[in-house]
Amino acid sequence: MPADPTAPRHDEDDQHEEPAQPARRDLLRSGLATGAATALGLAAATGPAAAAPNQADQADRTLTLTGHLPTGCPDFVYLPVEVPDGVREIAVSYSYDKPQVPAGTPGNSCDIGIFDERGTDLGGDGFRGWSGGFRTEFAIARDTATPGYLPGPVNPGTWHIALGPYQVAPQGLDYRVQVTLRFGAPGAEFTPHYPPERARGRGRAWYRGDCHLHTVHSDGRRLPEEVAAGARAAGLDFIISTDHNTSSSHAVWGPLAGPDLLILPGEEITTRNGHWLALGLEAGRFVDWRYRSRDEEYPRFVRQVHRSGGLVVPAHPYCPYVACQWKFGYEQADAVEVWNGPWTYDDESAVDTWDSRLAVALRGGRSWLPAMGNSDAHSAPQVIGLPHNVVLAEDLTRDAVLDGLRAGRSWLAESATVRLDFTVTGNGRQAGIGEELTVPADAPLDVRLTVSGVPGGTVRFLTDEGQMHQESLPADGSGTVVWRTTASLAAYVRAEVRHPKADGTPGKGNSMGEDLPWGPMAALTNPIVLRVDEH
Ligand SMILES: [Zn+2]
Ligand SMILES: [Zn+2]
Repeated sequence: MPADPTAPRHDEDDQHEEPAQPARRDLLRSGLATGAATALGLAAATGPAAAAPNQADQADRTLTLTGHLPTGCPDFVYLPVEVPDGVREIAVSYSYDKPQVPAGTPGNSCDIGIFDERGTDLGGDGFRGWSGGFRTEFAIARDTATPGYLPGPVNPGTWHIALGPYQVAPQGLDYRVQVTLRFGAPGAEFTPHYPPERARGRGRAWYRGDCHLHTVHSDGRRLPEEVAAGARAAGLDFIISTDHNTSSSHAVWGPLAGPDLLILPGEEITTRNGHWLALGLEAGRFVDWRYRSRDEEYPRFVRQVHRSGGLVVPAHPYCPYVACQWKFGYEQADAVEVWNGPWTYDDESAVDTWDSRLAVALRGGRSWLPAMGNSDAHSAPQVIGLPHNVVLAEDLTRDAVLDGLRAGRSWLAESATVRLDFTVTGNGRQAGIGEELTVPADAPLDVRLTVSGVPGGTVRFLTDEGQMHQESLPADGSGTVVWRTTASLAAYVRAEVRHPKADGTPGKGNSMGEDLPWGPMAALTNPIVLRVDEH
């Protein structure tokens, strides 16, 4: 969600002397919104300097860019900034008006980012950072940058401030962007600390991981170290970092990973027609977000992610927020996030869509789309690991975990308290989650779920015909549920474990009524596919 802009206004736009700034480094580290404003205020008070141009110690130069964006303006507006030789740091702050709008009408909301002298081409090399609507200011230098932005050379040439006016009031949007060029010797070269691609695993085993997490590198309030600590506290084996529209966090995870925690780089790509997760990206790799479904650019970025071995996962496809519903289809996806954060109504819709696609895929002999669940946690009190994926992987490595997720050898858990084992056995063979069992059409098949950690929970077995079996767990939350079917009757079987409804009843999963017939999800499995042996 966008943050309210609170940037103070500055009227002194002349050149001014660089003030003593003992807290400058802290400001860049923390990205706090007030620090630079104070610094600029002090600078203005000292008056203009008399430094000669083109000297390393020449005065700061501040430009103010203002303009009006009407409704119907482009999704992205680029403001050119000429950066001369000798600039050590570019500091940007911005604000925009928020006129009164009628109830039910979106008010002004404007994102911001920056591209360097290499240009603004879609998928090009010029990207230098994005903070969405979360920050009112940022700075970039060679050795350091505000989280969300990429440290690196401040080369001369035409840079561009990118505005993303994603909600424009009927009156339009008046923006004011202030760019301060600070001159001086460049800082040291920035050294990224990327995380290793493996941790100390247990060989072929089930590993728990949350694959959708935010930090201060986008619109989260948690520092990366807080996210890593939260993942460990939640009993996770791995996490994938998915800040919005930037790769800046990739460089900080190295020291936070460890033998007990695999951390993989990723990104949440926030388009105007839905969000998708690029999971397991090459460290430092940025994936562009500046397109809509109608632009036909999405397939190109899917290919980019696939080439680097990563996964493409539409996120929260029915989230009702502006621009958050998924409109690119599922044909090129590797999985879909059907459960995002605490269980809500939109998750029911996502599960329904996912389930209905399973049968279609099996009819066509195509691969089916696995389900994923992730917390999308941004800040306290959102819980890291609620929910997460429990993946059967050959080891705790990048490739093995991504392979398991891609194959759907995974189930979705509300927390590490929930444990589960799900199999289908018949004709002398057994298959687990994400696997296939090919048996004679009428061979009896035992579907067996053993679960713990869901007191009074409701176990549901679902096939292409819908819910076929329902059974309640005892108060201690542990039990085994067995049900018999055949491959002629069921193209696949999957399991859900639900909490009791708010009134304490288990609900009746295949009934109609005014209220939802189920309580919140505690666990959901990917399907076990049943195929008829024709021989
Ligand atoms: Zn999102
Ligand atoms: Zn997110």
